[in-house]
Amino acid sequence: MRFTVAIDGPAASGKGTIGRALAARFGFAHLDTGLLYRAVGAKVRDGAEAVAAAEGLQLADLERGDLRSGAAGQAASEVAAMPAVRAALVQFQRDVARRCGGAVLDGRDIGTVICPEAEVKLFVTASDAARAHRRWLELSAAGDPRGEAEILADLRARDARDKARADAPLSAAADALLLDTTELTIDAAVERAVRAVEEQFGQGRA
Ligand code: C5P
Repeated sequence: MRFTVAIDGPAASGKGTIGRALAARFGFAHLDTGLLYRAVGAKVRDGAEAVAAAEGLQLADLERGDLRSGAAGQAASEVAAMPAVRAALVQFQRDVARRCGGAVLDGRDIGTVICPEAEVKLFVTASDAARAHRRWLELSAAGDPRGEAEILADLRARDARDKARADAPLSAAADALLLDTTELTIDAAVERAVRAVEEQFGQGRA
């Protein structure tokens, strides 16, 4: 059985949480595609050339402990604007998406470029303030000393770069279900996503 759930949205919109919950609920694999760009960005910061780093990326590179930092996010969005880096990562993502047993991929261009044929597409958003607050909670718990205002500025810079790039900019697929999580609890957001998957998954099995 092949079944792909494509989830896109800006940083800290809740797409990762929703993706993990859907994968657990339906027994699908989950790939946080942002980690691929973060891992390439981290290698570049270590002195590697960006395209070579993307072409040589191994699963073990996604396990690095420093990929969740704010600096890794900025480095990711810089390498993500390079078409050759994106091209080098396409097949890896498509292989996960079409594996037997179903898969959830979350990122910025999954429904538009990587898996335009995905059975379910979600575009997850939240207000800038809500996203900055969530990211601040996460980063401050990990020891990041920056305040919410600085993190908000950081998110906006990253979103602007992700939306403005020529290749695979952040945008909702025309057939994506829009999910604004600003006022939703995690459980409520997950429940809406589960319903969207059940509608398609049920049809596929019927
Ligand atoms: O999702 P996350 O915040 O970890 O992504 C880090 C960066 O990687 C994003 O800001 C974006 O520039 C890039 N990215 C992308 N395409 C994806 C996933 C992430 O360009 N599918």
